[in-house]
Amino acid sequence: MPHSSGGGSHSGGSHSSHSSHSGGGSRHSGGGSSSSGSSRRTSSTPFPGCKRYLYYKDDKPCLVYSNYDIRKSDKSQFIASIVICAIVFLPFIILSAIFMVKAFSFPKKIEYSKYKHKTPEFVIEDNLGVFENEANLERSMEEFYDATGVVPAVITVTNDTWNQDYKSLEAYAYDVYVNRFPDEVHWLFVYSTAEKEGGFDDWYWEGMQGDNTDPVLTTERVDAFTESLNTRLLQRSKYSVDDAFAITFDEYRPVMMKMQVNQRYILLGSVMFITLSAVAGLTIATSKPHKVPDDYKKAVPCELKAVYQASCNFCGGMYIVGMHTGCPHCGAAIPPQNYIQDPQGNIVKIL
Ligand SMILES: [Zn+2]
Repeated sequence: MPHSSGGGSHSGGSHSSHSSHSGGGSRHSGGGSSSSGSSRRTSSTPFPGCKRYLYYKDDKPCLVYSNYDIRKSDKSQFIASIVICAIVFLPFIILSAIFMVKAFSFPKKIEYSKYKHKTPEFVIEDNLGVFENEANLERSMEEFYDATGVVPAVITVTNDTWNQDYKSLEAYAYDVYVNRFPDEVHWLFVYSTAEKEGGFDDWYWEGMQGDNTDPVLTTERVDAFTESLNTRLLQRSKYSVDDAFAITFDEYRPVMMKMQVNQRYILLGSVMFITLSAVAGLTIATSKPHKVPDDYKKAVPCELKAVYQASCNFCGGMYIVGMHTGCPHCGAAIPPQNYIQDPQGNIVKIL
């Protein structure tokens, strides 16, 4: 169904189409759960599921019990936080990208042949006899159609034509539209006037655009057109009615197909993107991979059943029996020890 593209009157005011398209944005919520898994634990005393590690510090052996390899850094928390970030933020990243793309809209010329299989007929009906140069108006309408695919039509009537049977000129224009232009690719203008006492010109006009013109005749463009046309119609000493239409068609023909930048979308997209980057950056920065202490880097697994210490004959440094062939401090060869081993080869007693 066609809808008003705007209008105006002698009182000076022009009204916009009021067709507020409220787009319902779908709200995406991303979710991710972090599985903490088995927590990492180290202890100086054994606990279930632990493994013993040996390292040397200040010439002394140190034993530490841990349920993970203390020589390796734990990247799992770090990786998990990046994955969660990605999952949670992905819909927002997509949304901000959509906003950016939507911010720039290129109108596509309307294919008249898609709706009617013949060349359009340019309706100019001057029932008032106010047009001074119909040929020029028709030229401007044809050129507007060539550029946009929208077919303009201009009709003038007296106020008496509609004010008995219709509550407004808009209602009358609507009726004219649906009866004459079922293709919905026309842009109809109805200009109406009646000369009242004292030569007072009581005029009104109304624009009616078909649904198929919406991609080109967007609210922003049509509102600007409406204002420009009304400004000319108010200067009757300067422009005749048909001139006002023809000049405004000519003025807006090059504008209609230009890229339209929706600053609201750009603002929305950038605010979302900046917020996301900040939050993502903070999240990753605060979850740096766990670092391995220097002492742990040289640790070795120590699977002995029983742990005995002995001192090096050369440097006096302490070491764990059964773990080395040379002293871990000075490198001197360790003499074979006398000890008792169990069937698994573990030292159970030094003799
Ligand atoms: Zn030594």
